[in-house]
Amino acid sequence: MEAYFDNSATTAVYPQVVELTNKIFTKDYGNPSSLHMKGIEAERYLSDAKERIAKILKCDKKEILFTSGATESNNLSLIGSYLANKRNKNTLITTQIEHPSVSQVASFLEEMGVNVIRIPVDEKGIVDTDSLYDALSEDVFMVSVMGVNNETGVVEPVGDIASEVKRRYPDIIFHSDYVQGFSKYKLYPSRNNIDLLSASAHKFHGPKGVGFLFIKDKTRIKPLILGGGQQNNMRSGTDNVPGVAGMALAASLSFENASVSNANIKKIKDIIKDGLLKMDGVCINSPDDEICAPHILNVSFMGVRSEVMLHALEEKGIYVSSGSACSSNKKEKSSTLKSMNLSMQRMDSAIRFSFSENNTIEQALYLLEIIEPLYNQLKKFVRS
Ligand code: PMP
Repeated sequence: MEAYFDNSATTAVYPQVVELTNKIFTKDYGNPSSLHMKGIEAERYLSDAKERIAKILKCDKKEILFTSGATESNNLSLIGSYLANKRNKNTLITTQIEHPSVSQVASFLEEMGVNVIRIPVDEKGIVDTDSLYDALSEDVFMVSVMGVNNETGVVEPVGDIASEVKRRYPDIIFHSDYVQGFSKYKLYPSRNNIDLLSASAHKFHGPKGVGFLFIKDKTRIKPLILGGGQQNNMRSGTDNVPGVAGMALAASLSFENASVSNANIKKIKDIIKDGLLKMDGVCINSPDDEICAPHILNVSFMGVRSEVMLHALEEKGIYVSSGSACSSNKKEKSSTLKSMNLSMQRMDSAIRFSFSENNTIEQALYLLEIIEPLYNQLKKFVRS
């Protein structure tokens, strides 16, 4: 049996999305900037895609910018707002648990002279809002807080934080990396005082290399990619029509299915969590259900290094991730688990299981059947 439990790293593309993108690749392949019929047809795909996503976010079509994924959306959010506001503001507030596509950009800006404040989290991974509000000032151009952490699944109260930030300083731009939350939760950015919201198609059964950034109307932000002036000069380059259309269809499908698939995903997670908790030496690193996304479960198998467990499971056809799959620097300890103050041993043995609607209860039971003898065997090996 095969069990792919690494859906926070990426997901399988919906067959309907494959069908649609195929049609665009091979038949409706025009460049939306062309003035002839093929171009107009391609432009219609872009316009429809914007409409679909705007409908989901309850925002205006013109507030959606297509990008090459969340890494670009996050880079644009932080650097673009800095460039637009640097004349009179020089402080960026973010958190200690951001994805590298935010944290590395923050460090880059710091090297350029920006004052970066990284807000700590508690032992559950929830951002310390008192410290965050204390750090606010007229000098802050942006507050960036992720919606759902990709390693533990902890859900940050971004709507509440954004609203409080705006109440105190209406000019501060509020950004949220919402990659792991989109399609799991219905968060309407405008209604929640969020100015910028990043998402990525391949996390919700769309294609890789395409994402979007919600940019609230009138937000002060500069483009990073200059050229032919596509997307109202905010992001030049020939539009990725198949990717964008595929993403929008995937977004619609995942939202249509959300309540059923979230409930199924949660059932699978519960079966696995309950089974693992019966085993000696297992610690759950994800927070309690009320503040955790349904699709992520981070667990430490004490005494067995993450990579050892990962490859042992792989041999049985079970695919998981150690810490964050998105970090290319595998030697570095997970910033999220470190910020939660977990022991070195617990961090070294952390495994992330992440689920999607494609997973089944049979797969969960298969994992539980495999993992106890496997863990006992690996533990023995470590001791000898
Ligand atoms: N932010 C988070 C929280 C993520 O999980 C990821 C993907 N691993 C990204 C940003 C980057 O997204 P992309 O792969 O679209 O660049």
